[in-house]
Amino acid sequence: PAKPAFAGELPKGLQQISNIIAVSSCKGGVGKSTVAVNLAYTLAGMGARVGIFDADVYGPSLPTMVSPEIRLLEMNPETKTILPTEYLGVKLVSFGFAGQGRAIMRGPMVSGVVNQLLTTAEWGELDYLVIDLPPGTGDIQLTLCQVAPLTAAVIVTTPQKLAFIDVAKGVRMFSKLKVPCIAVVENMCYFDADEKRHYPFGKGSGDQVVQQFGIPNLFDLPIRETLSASGDSGMPEVVSDPQGEVSRIFQDLGVCV
Ligand code: ADP
Repeated sequence: PAKPAFAGELPKGLQQISNIIAVSSCKGGVGKSTVAVNLAYTLAGMGARVGIFDADVYGPSLPTMVSPEIRLLEMNPETKTILPTEYLGVKLVSFGFAGQGRAIMRGPMVSGVVNQLLTTAEWGELDYLVIDLPPGTGDIQLTLCQVAPLTAAVIVTTPQKLAFIDVAKGVRMFSKLKVPCIAVVENMCYFDADEKRHYPFGKGSGDQVVQQFGIPNLFDLPIRETLSASGDSGMPEVVSDPQGEVSRIFQDLGVCV
């Protein structure tokens, strides 16, 4: 049997965090960051203390999806720790808030920098840290999961048949790491028009996911202009429209994490 991936000593910066939830996808552009951010703000809306770590070095989305007043991470010169910025009570760390220092880096370097940023941030006491993982199941994802003791993973995908293979890859990675996948979100699943519900990519392979991998929760997220607009405006949809259909779906997801 595989050894538990997380075997080291818990980094100081992570010691006061109760739950670390990874949001993951195999491909880019499926809505992983949208799910991570809206899940985080849903949990915050339920009264939890929440942080978001955007682990994407090459294409950080967090700076577009939220609009904190302070858009630069500060370093505490004495402790050499990083102070997260904050928006509507949620603590935020992203490379997009790291100033102009972004460079062209190779994989192993990226891993080091990601891990350092995650573990030197002063997260303080949190009920949930939501990690927006970069897309894929490679080294960067693996080492990050070895640095941070993940409580659970949420996999984001789209309903196309091919996406099933992606989910399988994701589940395999997390099962190697002994991290339970608690939910799959099938994003951009449907839209309503002409008093009908349309499934532009087919009905998805949700049932198959549940049966084959035993993932207990499956969520269908609609294609919504407002979701994409809120991603661009810097205010998550669950904040701007807390009673809406999308918010209700995230409430259900929030309850299961
Ligand atoms: P990823 O993190 O997987 O790369 P993003 O969350 O950045 O994906 O989403 C990619 C783009 O698609 C963004 O512009 C986002 O606003 C938009 N988007 C994501 N999900 C939806 C949806 N359900 N309806 C409409 N637009 C969406």
